[in-house]
Amino acid sequence: MPEDLNLLSNDEFRGRWRAWLEANYPEEWRIPIVFRLMGDDERRWHRMTYQAGWRAPAWPKEYGGLGLSLEKQLIMHQEMERHKCARVLDSGALLLAPVLMKYGTQEQRDRYLKPILRGDELWCQGYSEPNSGSDLASLRTTAVPEGDEFVINGQKIWTTLAAQADRIFVLVRTNKDVKKQAGISFVLADMDTPGLTVRPIMNLADEDELCEIFFENVRIPAENLVGELNQGWTVAKALLGDERIANGAPTLSRQAFEVLEQLVRGVGLLDDLGETDRVAQLYCDIEDLAALHSQVADAAIRGEIDNAVLGLMKVLATDLFQRVSDELLRVAGEDAGLRKPVGVAGVELDLRKIYMIARPSTIYAGANEVQRNIVATMLMGPAAK
Ligand SMILES: Cc1cc2nc3c(=O)[nH]c(=O)nc-3n(C[C@H](O)[C@H](O)[C@H](O)COP(=O)(O)OP(=O)(O)OC[C@H]3O[C@@H](n4cnc5c(N)ncnc54)[C@H](O)[C@@H]3O)c2cc1C
Repeated sequence: MPEDLNLLSNDEFRGRWRAWLEANYPEEWRIPIVFRLMGDDERRWHRMTYQAGWRAPAWPKEYGGLGLSLEKQLIMHQEMERHKCARVLDSGALLLAPVLMKYGTQEQRDRYLKPILRGDELWCQGYSEPNSGSDLASLRTTAVPEGDEFVINGQKIWTTLAAQADRIFVLVRTNKDVKKQAGISFVLADMDTPGLTVRPIMNLADEDELCEIFFENVRIPAENLVGELNQGWTVAKALLGDERIANGAPTLSRQAFEVLEQLVRGVGLLDDLGETDRVAQLYCDIEDLAALHSQVADAAIRGEIDNAVLGLMKVLATDLFQRVSDELLRVAGEDAGLRKPVGVAGVELDLRKIYMIARPSTIYAGANEVQRNIVATMLMGPAAK
């Protein structure tokens, strides 16, 4: 019987996780050199944590997770931040698994959860389409039932790390004759299914994480439907809620802020009152966000989801991340224009990369402008016509 980590005191728990990270976390993955683990590195990280008994802190124990209290999950995050660990997308564990636990069949849970835990299978999220991003419900990729299969045709875009993924969860249109939200289903597909093609898109940061995916008569078994036919919108909404909790975290702002601190020291601006004022304001805003985030995550774990607060927190977190990255560029002056890491006080800082990671954060997981509309409508009712 594995030990119940919840029974450890917070200090003891923190000490154990910290010691494990210090002994095992690969040096070459520590920021600011690497920002996100991808492909085989991501698989290796999941394997390492699984074998050492640290994988899936939020999953219930019956599914092989640690079933940790929120307090202990936050301790794990804090220690990873302290140790400067790279980000991990982990769409399988963080986005798909909660959906399978809530809406999936026992067969689907048996088939997919274990490989996610072990790091054997990576997933990607196929929601957005060329003309359906903010207005996701207008999606046009179709899945037509044929015998005991669905036949999928259409295109997805901006699918993060699709080229490294083994499987994809996809929103598809299964009924065109009803209100648009009522004709969507949530299905699973293997990335190597015939007719499915991935095309990476090179972005301004010289990375090709984002991909286009083309479906041409892609046949998947009917048993790959998650939840009821045409109920995919309900499933998708639950998943987007989970995603917004993660995207409302202060982690990225904190990581960028640490770099800002080094830079301000390195360029000798510690005596500049204007600069320290701006840095202090950013610090206070990060701490405010951290307090809000832990309250919201705590409430969410108790099953109390306030969608207005979730949307607001995503907006606050990503705006703040951009403000910190903007300040980095301001302080760096002309060095900010370089397409390579900048050496400041003996430290190599990749400012351009931080800036490039911050820019799209107000777009993904629901564009901030749209989030603001949703939050305003929730709080104040629809606008008068
Ligand atoms: C880095 C990154 C990673 C992503 N990863 C994934 C992924 O893994 N899987 C996936 O499915 N998708 C992913 N996306 C896509 C993302 O979900 C969409 O980009 C997002 O939903 C916005 O949709 P869009 O790009 O079509 O922009 P649009 O919806 O066309 O919006 C364009 C602009 O118009 C504004 N706008 C649109 N509607 C309104 C409105 N009603 N009121 C006010 N302003 C409005 C938006 O705020 C935005 O500034 C990713 C995007 C990025 C940038």
